[in-house]
Amino acid sequence: MTHPLLDLAPLSAARFAEIEDRVARLLDTRQDVVIMQGEALLPLEGAIRGTAGPGTTALNVITGPYGQTFGNWLRDCGAKVIDLAVPFHTAVTAGQISAAFEEHPEIDFVSLVHAEAATGNTNPVAEIGGVVRRRGALFYLDAVASVGAEPVLPDAWGVDLCVIGAQKAMGGPAGVSAVSVSARAWERMAANPGAPRRSYLSLLDWKERWIDGGRRALLHAPAQLEMLALEACVERIEADGLETVMARHRSAAAATRAGARVLGGGLEPYVHEDGAAAPVATTLRTPGGVVASELVSRALSLDPALPLAAGGGALAAEMIRVNHYGADATWEVVRGCLAALGAALGENVSVDVEGALRAAEEAWR
Ligand SMILES: *Cc1c(COP(=O)(O)O)cnc(C)c1O
Repeated sequence: MTHPLLDLAPLSAARFAEIEDRVARLLDTRQDVVIMQGEALLPLEGAIRGTAGPGTTALNVITGPYGQTFGNWLRDCGAKVIDLAVPFHTAVTAGQISAAFEEHPEIDFVSLVHAEAATGNTNPVAEIGGVVRRRGALFYLDAVASVGAEPVLPDAWGVDLCVIGAQKAMGGPAGVSAVSVSARAWERMAANPGAPRRSYLSLLDWKERWIDGGRRALLHAPAQLEMLALEACVERIEADGLETVMARHRSAAAATRAGARVLGGGLEPYVHEDGAAAPVATTLRTPGGVVASELVSRALSLDPALPLAAGGGALAAEMIRVNHYGADATWEVVRGCLAALGAALGENVSVDVEGALRAAEEAWR
C-alpha cells in the first residue's frame, strides 16, 4: 500500500520554482526569492555571512532576542557593529535610525527584525526603509514573525534581504524558509571573498547554480514534505485572502490587549503603544509579585491547548506571551486565553473576566 507521506513522486524543479514564485507574489516582490531548505535561521545566517565582512559597518537594531544573534554573526564575520538597542516595550523609530547614520555615516548595512514574536513589538519598516535607502546601506530584515500577520513589502520598502518563515502567522511548516534578494545584495555577495560558497549556508550557490541556470536543476534533494506543506499553506492564504488572514491577526492582538486592560489584577499589555504592538502575538506584563511562568502554568492547567507561554530567559518572571498566530488567530483562542489567565490570576486578586471578554469582543470587531 502506498503511504501518503512516504511514497511521493519526486518534487520537480518546475514545481519548486512555482512555489518560489507563489511566495514572491505573497511578498509582492520582483526580487529573486530563494527557498532555503531549513528553518529560517538558515537564510538569516546565510544572508549575513554572504553580505557582511571586515569592510562592513553594520547598524544592528535590537528589539528582542534575534537582534542579539544577528549582532553576534556580524561580529563573527569581522564587521564593525553598532548596536542600537531599544526597550522591549516599544519599537525603534525611523528618527533613531537617522540619528545613528548622522553619528556614523560609514554605516553600510542595517539589520532589523520586523515583528518580534518573542517580545510582542513591531517596527515601522516602511519609514526605516526610506532612511536606509537614502543612505545607500544594504537593508536586511527578519520578517519571519510578521509575514501573514501584517504587510511585508520588500520592494516598496527597499529591503535588500527579506527573510520569512511559514511557521508563525502563515500557519505553515517550520522546516523550509525563504529570502528575497535584491540585485544590490547579490552584487555585495559576489564581491565578498568571505561569502559562503559550496556551503549549505550559501545563497550564492543558489544564485549561480539554480537561478542563473534558469531554475532547471536543484542543488540537492529538496525537503519534499516541507515544500509541499509550504505550497499548501500559501494556497490556503491565497484562498482565504492575505488581507483576511492579516485582519484576523490584527483583531486577535487588539482583542487581547483590550481584554487585558479591563481584566485588572495588575495585568497589562507589555508593549505600551498600540502602534508598536505586533499583530502576530501579544505580550502581557504580570503585576509585581506574580511570576509569569507560574501564572502561565496555572492557566495551562485549565486548558493545555491554549497558545500561552512565558517570556524567554529573564523575561519568564514578568512576561506572558499569547501566541495567537496561524490557526490560533481566532476569537475562540483569544477568549480562551483571557478566561484562563483571568481564572488563574483571580485565585489571588480580584479580576473582571466578564468585562474583559466584553471589551475583547468589541475590539475584535
Ligand atoms: C520565530 C522567529 C524566528 C524563527 O525562529 P524559531 O524560534 O525557530 O521559530 C526568527 N525570527 C523571528 C523574529 C521570529 O519571531
